[in-house]
This record gives sequence, structure tokens and C-alpha cells, in this order.
Amino acid sequence: MTVAAKEQNVETRQFQTEVRQLLDILVHSLYSQREIFLRELISNASDALHRIKFELLTNRDVLDPDAELAIRIVGDPEKGTLTISDTGVGMTHDELIENLGTIAHSGAAQFLRALQEQQQAGGAIEQIGQFGVGFYSVFMVADEVRVTSRSFLPEAEAWTWVSTGDDAYTLEPAEKTDRGTTIEIMLKKDALEFAEPWRIKSIIRKYSEFVTFPIYVNDDEEPVNRRQAIWRLLPSQVSDEEANEFYRQLTLAFDDPLARIHIQTDAPVQIYALLFIPGKLDRTLLGLKQDYGLRLYSHKIRIQDRNKDLLPGYLRFIEGVVDSEDIPLNVSREMVQSSRVMSKIKSVLTRKVLGELARMAEKEPDRYEAFWREFGIFIKEGITTEPQDHEKLIPLLRFYSTKSEEKPTSLADYIARAQLDQKTIYYIAGESRAAMKRSPHLEYFREHDIEVLYFDQPVDAFLPQAIGKYEEFEFQNVDRAKLDELEKMEEAPEVSDAFEKLAAQAKETLGDRVVDVRPSKRLVSAPARLAAPEDVIDSSLQRIRRLMEEDVAAPQMILELNPDHPIVANLMARAQGNGDDPILDAAIEQLYEDALLLEGFHPDPTQMVSRIEKLLEAATRA
Ligand code: ADP
Repeated sequence: MTVAAKEQNVETRQFQTEVRQLLDILVHSLYSQREIFLRELISNASDALHRIKFELLTNRDVLDPDAELAIRIVGDPEKGTLTISDTGVGMTHDELIENLGTIAHSGAAQFLRALQEQQQAGGAIEQIGQFGVGFYSVFMVADEVRVTSRSFLPEAEAWTWVSTGDDAYTLEPAEKTDRGTTIEIMLKKDALEFAEPWRIKSIIRKYSEFVTFPIYVNDDEEPVNRRQAIWRLLPSQVSDEEANEFYRQLTLAFDDPLARIHIQTDAPVQIYALLFIPGKLDRTLLGLKQDYGLRLYSHKIRIQDRNKDLLPGYLRFIEGVVDSEDIPLNVSREMVQSSRVMSKIKSVLTRKVLGELARMAEKEPDRYEAFWREFGIFIKEGITTEPQDHEKLIPLLRFYSTKSEEKPTSLADYIARAQLDQKTIYYIAGESRAAMKRSPHLEYFREHDIEVLYFDQPVDAFLPQAIGKYEEFEFQNVDRAKLDELEKMEEAPEVSDAFEKLAAQAKETLGDRVVDVRPSKRLVSAPARLAAPEDVIDSSLQRIRRLMEEDVAAPQMILELNPDHPIVANLMARAQGNGDDPILDAAIEQLYEDALLLEGFHPDPTQMVSRIEKLLEAATRA
């Protein structure tokens, strides 16, 4: 093609807004960890190689079916260039536009706004590599990037994509005759180190050691990386350091995992697996973490990146690889999913993961506590969704409680501390432990030295129903008006005429906001509480509704008053009088709303303030 003809074919296209914002940040900021761009590019090349390897299983009608599957990196310090080539699937004209002109992540816009604000505020955004910006991270080191690619599809043509990190990029036809992608980087002046072969090699050893395709640097005939399937080594041959490094390369995380589970079995299915419990739930900020699932290999071929059928959904935080010779290669991915082998693998992996958690809970309680803080909510989810795993999951549960405020306790320990005739596990539900600690519902339990679990996560409300009984113990919310077991120990409060009068007045004042007003058997120093009537299954479920729908009215509860409390005693005296008593009405309203507040409801503040002023006026009258 002549130069003129070529120029005619050059298309100029605008980047998607999100990409423009990202490039602006990448081009104009300084970073300490720029080297990770190479890890991102090698990871993309490796993905492209895995995809062609998979394609070749069933389709030989591709460009260069016999080309070596490899990555070649050439640094030229004199020219200041770095070139990364792979013989992977390549990209067509349209794929170049789709993949290198847009960002698919749904949270990208929000994430970028946060980054830009940080940048405009003069803040450094050094850790950008950790956000997984992938290919675009090359613009931390590049003045210009040329991506020339030819897809494996036999009729596809080669194209070159060029960008200097500005708002637009160009596409033009290219001469490339072989399959794959070549990325040529014109390094920035301050990034020339990345053209030095020794520097390139050290980055590969640091971040890409476990890429399974050979990575050649400059003229070396020996690949730089080891290409080992680490999960096939004997567990005793794998050091913590190596395993952690593999974890970081697999997940692109920067921290160490909390635990690893190395599984090798022959029966009932043959499995090599290396699974990890991550150190943190959200390793990539703002939920940019794309997807979950395990990487699946068979006969050393990666057949899926994110398989979701190898573990139950509640274990989706687990990362790792699974490799089984028992998975037939010549079947479609859909068939892989439904095969009997898969369900066998799933049951082995689930058993091993839960077994490791049980071991950790027993032998390494501190590490287990760290696990629980990050991932406990998934175990609770498992209890509500997978009844068949109950036996293993329930012992893993932990709760903070009135007798275990600092360390979460197990149900078994709760029972071990229970009173002789106690056959109930008591819990209190609320938004925060701090608020629950102040709840009047707990007074009685404190006084009688009965332990109460704090249910502070919405999912907790579903646990009593999902679990049913635990070792003959039933679950009960401490806000219930009637707690059978306690009934025996309690003396029925005497209902004086004076109390009857006050209760009648309160019922009139509060109307259908309460179902009843009664003297309380359970209050010690608080004047009032809102107790759940017997026909309410569990008020914590109503609490969930309130979290999900904004405008749920306060539930109809029983207002229990403490006749021994001075306020209630005063009100009983006042209620003896005849005729209108606005102060009595206001005080009843206020007691009721105070109790609502303690339950986490927020009554109308303007009304409350004027009522309190009225009460203050009466109280301060000289
Ligand atoms: P991610 O890898 O997280 O999807 P990137 O921005 O790194 O995001 O890459 C975007 C897409 O571009 C990839 O998903 C892939 O489809 C394509 N791509 C990138 N590099 C290559 C390559 N060397 N060969 C083939 N396709 C590639």
C-alpha cells in the first residue's frame, strides 16, 4: 500500500468518556508503582493464549494453528521502545474498538470521579495499579502505544490501533501476517528503564512467574518464567511465599491471602486445586472487582476463567484454580456445567473448604476471627440458602454477646455458659451494638445473668428460622412480651388501681399505635419498653422490612411500663385526677417515643421538640 492510500484508510475515533477520564489521570500523574503495567499486558497476552489453546481443541481452521503459544518481549534501550507480542486469539477491527476504546466495568464512572476529585485536591493516587485498570495502565509509561493485531479467524485482516493517550485514537490497516497481538510502546523519557532487559526480567519474575506460557525476553532462548502448574506440585513442595505470589498473580491482589487450601485427590474424582481465602473482602475499591468464580483447567488447558459451579454461591469469595483430568475436554462449556463430574468436584471442594474453616476455628482462633470479620456474612448466607450444609456451617457461626463483647462467641460456647434450666438462646436485634447495649430489653437479662446475642446484621433475622433448634435450644428475641421459660421464674407484677388508671389513659392517648399498655415484669431501671405481642413472629423481620422499604410505619407493639420507676409512679399519681391533663398526655407520648427511639425508629423531631419544651416548662415552673 502506498503512503497516500494508507492515509486514506486511517480512521480517527473518540475514546468513550470514561476512558478519556482514565487516560487523563494516567498520563498526568506520577506513580511509584508504574512497573505493574507490564504485569497487566502479560496477563492480557496470557489470557489471549489460553483462549486460542481452548479454541484449538475443537477448531483447527485458524490462522497459524501450529505457532508456538508464547509471549515475546523485546526492549530496545537505544530507541526507548518496548514490544510485547503474543500468538493468542488476536483482535479484529471491531474488537480493537470495543476492547481498547471503552471500559466495560459498570462502576467505572463513579470510580473515576472519585479518583479525579482526589487528583484535583492535589492528592497522590499512587495505588492506581491496584484498581485493575488493565491495558490502559501502559499510559503511565508510554508517550505512544501501537497495538497491531490479527485475529485467529482465517478471513480477518490485521489492524493497527494507535494512541498517545489523548482524547482520540486511530485505526489503520496493517501488514501483520501471523496470528496474535503486538504492542509497541514508545516509552516516556522518565520511563526508559523499562526498555532494559534486566529490568524487564526482574518485573516478570516478580509478577508473572506463574504464567503458564513461555515468556522470552530479547534474544534469550530460555523463557524467563518457570511456567509451573503450582497446584500440581505436592503441597510440601510449595512454600508460603510461592503460594502467596501465585495468589497475587492470579487475582492481581497486592496483599497475602488469609489461608490456602491445597487439594489433591484421586477418588471419587481426580482433582488438583489450590484455593485461597482472600485477606480482605473488597480488595479492589468501589466494587470494581469484576466477577467471581474459580479458574478451571483440564489436561493443563484453561477451559474457564470464572467457573461458578464448583462451589456453592455462598463461598463465592474463594479464589483459586481447579484442575481435573476427569473433565472431558471435547465438550461444550454448557455441558461441563451440568456434568456429574462437576457436582462431584463441587462436593469435594465444599467439604475441604468447610473443613479448613472448622480447623482454623479450632486451632487458630485469631485467624478465624479475622476471617469471620470479613466473610462471616457469607456463612450466614449459606445457612439461609443451603440447609444441607447446616451441620458444618452452624458451628462456624459467631456472634458478639452481652458476655462476649470483645470476641465473637460460638453457639456451643453460649450453651456451655447457659443457666441450668435454660433451653433458649436469647438475642437482641438492632442497628449497632452500641445502641443495643443501651436497650431496656436487656435489663432483665443482665439482672439475671442470662447471656444475650447481638444480632447486628440484617441477615441475622433469618437465622432463627433457618436453624430451627440448636442442641434443643430455641431462639427467642428478648423483646417478646412473653418468654415462656422466664415466666416460671417471674412473679406476676401486681396491677394496682392506680396503674390501671394510667394504663387506660395511655391507651386512650396512644390509640392504635399500641396494642396494649401493661406493667412490665422485665424492666429494672428503665421506665418503659416496647415489647412484641405474642402473635408477632419476630420483630427483627419487621426491622428488615424497614431497612428495605423506607416508609414502613412503626409496628404495633405492647407498651410496657415499669411501675417502680419514679416517672411512672408520678404519672400514676397524676392519672388519679379527673379532667384534662395536658402534661400527663405529653409525658405518655414522650415515654412512648423514647421507647421507639431506643428501638431504632425516628419519630418526628419537630413535634418531639415542642413537646419536650412543654414538659420542661412544667418541670421548671418555680
Ligand atoms: P481486562 O483484561 O480486565 O478485560 P483490559 O483493559 O486489560 O481489561 O483489556 C481489555 C480487553 O482487551 C481484554 O478483555 C481483551 O479482550 C482485549 N485484549 C487486551 N490485550 C489483548 C491481547 N494481547 N490479545 C487479545 N486481546 C486482548
